[in-house]
Amino acid sequence: MSNKTMGPIPYGTQHITEEDIEAVTETLKADYLTQGPKVTDFEEAFADYIGSDYAVAVSNGTAALHLGVLALGVEPGQKVITTPITFSASANCVRYAGGEVDFVDIDPETFLIDLDLVERKLRDSELGEYAGIIPVDFTGLAVDIERLRSIADQYGLWILEDACHAPGGSFENSEGEAVNCGDCRYAEAAIFSFHPVKHIAAGEGGMITTNSEELKKQLDILRTHGITKEPERLQENHGGWYYEMQQLGYNYRLTDIQSSLGLSQLKRADEGLLRRRRIAKKYDLAFSDLDTITTQKVSENERDNHHGFHLYVIQVDNRKEVYDYLRKHQIYSQIHYIPVHLLPYYRQFGWNKGDFPKAEQYYERCISLPMYPTLTDEQQEFVIEKVLDVVE
Ligand SMILES: *Cc1c(COP(=O)(O)O)cnc(C)c1O
Repeated sequence: MSNKTMGPIPYGTQHITEEDIEAVTETLKADYLTQGPKVTDFEEAFADYIGSDYAVAVSNGTAALHLGVLALGVEPGQKVITTPITFSASANCVRYAGGEVDFVDIDPETFLIDLDLVERKLRDSELGEYAGIIPVDFTGLAVDIERLRSIADQYGLWILEDACHAPGGSFENSEGEAVNCGDCRYAEAAIFSFHPVKHIAAGEGGMITTNSEELKKQLDILRTHGITKEPERLQENHGGWYYEMQQLGYNYRLTDIQSSLGLSQLKRADEGLLRRRRIAKKYDLAFSDLDTITTQKVSENERDNHHGFHLYVIQVDNRKEVYDYLRKHQIYSQIHYIPVHLLPYYRQFGWNKGDFPKAEQYYERCISLPMYPTLTDEQQEFVIEKVLDVVE
C-alpha cells in the first residue's frame, strides 16, 4: 500500500465542522468578543460534562496549572511532586509559583506515576516539605486518585490533577463506581487544555475544575489581574466604577470566540471518545501478541469504558528506525515525552540521567501512533502495516 491517496497522517489533529464555524461566526457578529456570555456557557457546560461543581476557563492549560498551584499554595522552598513523563508545563507551573519540583518515577507497565514510590518518598519526608502533587492521567489512563487521596491526606498535600489527556475518561474506584477524570471527587482541582491536538479544540484554551466555591472565586480573581468588584470583598467602595486589585493576578482570560468553538466541540466530545476507543482496540488487536512491541497495560474494561486515549503509545527496541520509517511514509508519529528531569532547564537543579530509570527506559522505546477521531480505518490500516514492516 502506498500513501499517495491518504496524505500526511499526524499523531493527532483537530476536527472542525461547519457547525463549529457557524458557532464562531455567530460570536464574531455578537456584542462580546471576550468576557461575554460564551465564556460562562462554556464553563457551565464543561463542568456538567466532567461532573464537577465549578469550571473556570483560562487562556490555556499552562495558565490553568499556574493558577491552580497559586490558588492551592506553595511556600518558597516547598516541593511539589509530579511525573517525569509529562509535558514540561506540569512541572513548570510549580516554578512559576516559587516552589521546587520533585519527581517520582513511573510504573513501567502503565506509564503512570508509581503510587508506591510516592508513598515511600512521603514516608521519608519532613513535615511541610511537600505542598502538593500533580498527578497526570498520561495518555488518557486515569491515575488511581482515590488511593492518591488517602496518601496525600496522611501528609497534608493538595492534589491538582493534570487531566489534559483525559477529558471524558474515568476510573473505577473501590466501590466499583466510574469516577470521571477531573471531577474533583478526590482532588482539590483539575486542569484541562483545549490546544488543537487535545480532545476539545478552542485554538488555545484551558479549564480548571473544582468543587470548592472558595477556590473557584479565588481562581476567578487571579485570572483577571487580581481585581475584584464584588461589594462583599471590597475594603472601600467609591461607587459603581470602583474595583480593588487585592493581589497580583494575571490576564489569563479565555475569549468568547474561543469559548464558542470549545462549546461547539464539547457537543461532539463523547462521539470522539468512542471513536478513539475503537481505534485503540484495533491497534491492540494488531500489536498485543507481538514480541517486538510492548503496549500499555490496560484492561479490556479500562480500554473499552474508561480510557481517554489522547495517545496510543507503543514501545519498540528500534524506536528511531520506526520513527524515521513512518515519517518516510508521511506518518508523523511523536514521542511523549522526553523525561522532564533531563531537560536542560531542570538539569540545572541537579537532576541527571539515572535518577528515574523507569521513565528513562520508557523514553528510549516509546512512540505515539496516530490517534484522533477522524483517522479513517484505511489510514489506520496503513499505519499498522508500516509499523509491522519495520518492527519485524
Ligand atoms: C497540553 C498539556 C498541557 C499544557 O496545555 P497548553 O494548553 O498547551 O498550555 C499540560 N499538561 C499536559 C499533560 C498536556 O498534555
